[in-house]
Amino acid sequence: MRKIYVFDTTLRDGEQSPGVNLNTREKVEIALQLEKLKIDRMEAGFPAASPGDLAAVNAVARAVKDVTVIGLSRSRESDIDAVREALQGAQDPCIHVFLATSPIHRKFKLRMEKQQVLETAQASIRYAKKYFSKVEFSLEDAGRTELDFMAEVVGMAVREGANVVNIPDTVGYLNPSEYGAIFKYLKENVPDIEKVQLSAHCHNDLGMATANTLAAILNGADQIEGTINGIGERAGNTAIEEIAMALETRSEFFGAKTGLVLTEIARTSRLVSKLTGMVVPGNKAIVGANAFAHESGIHQDGMLKEKTTYEIMTPESIGLKESKLVLGKHSGRHAFREKLLDLGYELSEEQVNDAFAKFKVLADKKKEVSDEDLLALLEEKLIDTPEVFKLETIFVAYGNESTPTARVRIATVDQTIEEEAEGNGSVDAIYNAIDKVTGEEVTLADYSIKSVTHGKDAQGEVHVVLSQNDVAAQGRGLSTDILEASARAYVDAVNVLIEKRKTFSRRERATL
Ligand SMILES: [Zn+2]
Repeated sequence: MRKIYVFDTTLRDGEQSPGVNLNTREKVEIALQLEKLKIDRMEAGFPAASPGDLAAVNAVARAVKDVTVIGLSRSRESDIDAVREALQGAQDPCIHVFLATSPIHRKFKLRMEKQQVLETAQASIRYAKKYFSKVEFSLEDAGRTELDFMAEVVGMAVREGANVVNIPDTVGYLNPSEYGAIFKYLKENVPDIEKVQLSAHCHNDLGMATANTLAAILNGADQIEGTINGIGERAGNTAIEEIAMALETRSEFFGAKTGLVLTEIARTSRLVSKLTGMVVPGNKAIVGANAFAHESGIHQDGMLKEKTTYEIMTPESIGLKESKLVLGKHSGRHAFREKLLDLGYELSEEQVNDAFAKFKVLADKKKEVSDEDLLALLEEKLIDTPEVFKLETIFVAYGNESTPTARVRIATVDQTIEEEAEGNGSVDAIYNAIDKVTGEEVTLADYSIKSVTHGKDAQGEVHVVLSQNDVAAQGRGLSTDILEASARAYVDAVNVLIEKRKTFSRRERATL
């Protein structure tokens, strides 16, 4: 069985998704989970983007132990120096240098002739090689680059000692037979090509990222690049969980496997969704809520006499467990702790107490507390942001023929403030009242709500993105009442914004 190396770029390409902006602590939290999932390589960010990005990459580099940590760099010395600084303290550092090679990029973006592109890339690899034993080189927009010129650039990278050469379909333009043919061509036409690992990096603009990546594997790619849940610029990147499960489920066909701990997939997906605020669609392959919907009783028992009639993979294989023990109002601390262990949470005494208290409040409002409820509760406050403002109470008056009004009471360090406001709707009224208390001028850039479980007493989870000048901040709120969840999310985002503003700096962008 051939091993396929997994290069995760959730923290770089994924983080470039519109509306997503992870802070350092969120990045580290995801990085630690990616380490549990046992990805081989992790692109932690683009250090030259801003001092904040550099610091975040450094925090990730120091936090993880068993993963190669990678920093992205354009083909210029200052970028490479930024990666050197960012990867100080990494157990296994690697630099990822790129330069565009397609005619359209050469002409309009770089304004360089082929020869200049070759020379610039060569100089960068040389410079990077002075400081890094592991270098990956990417030909940006390789998908639209002339095959003979691509072979020339790849040949140069091989001679200069690059360890991995990446062939991105940056704009998601190709189809599987074309993309696979590129790998075959390079294998057959570049001297000493076996000295490097070839890597596939696809975008999903035409919905073909997974298919293209699998075609690359069939044609000799050793590494695949992608993100959890397929997040990323525009339509996103290849979803790593799809590749891992395709190889696993059809191993006899592909003859290749990743080294991922597949049972960590569900948890990783949930964490990434929660921290990025990018909700996973119900019909998303592998990790969507309906991906194993026959588990939730849609198929009759009789149809499940032999599971394989409908099931090509099991929910357990990605770490979803069938719930045996449902908790409720009368469940004690012991049962609660057992349940946490069952869900894979080993918490300290203090954390258990804290979670148990929250559970009791929820159990008062809900008859049955499901696994999803508990997970939402446990994961609500993964990252502790200093609470400049703390929501105490809300009151809303709404009628379809009157103007909604809301009153909020919010505690600050030294006082409690109450304000009232009107709005176009109940949520708007609440937000206007909160604005009066905080005195912050913010724009609501995004608002989404999802139900954690089914039924009338389901918990709602609200996610908001606020912006103020160039700073964007996300907030989350959870409650059995959507207005309360909306208020909590907003106050959370204001707190995150205040924290973020302290260290904000403008970002440069790099696409690949
Ligand atoms: Zn990309």
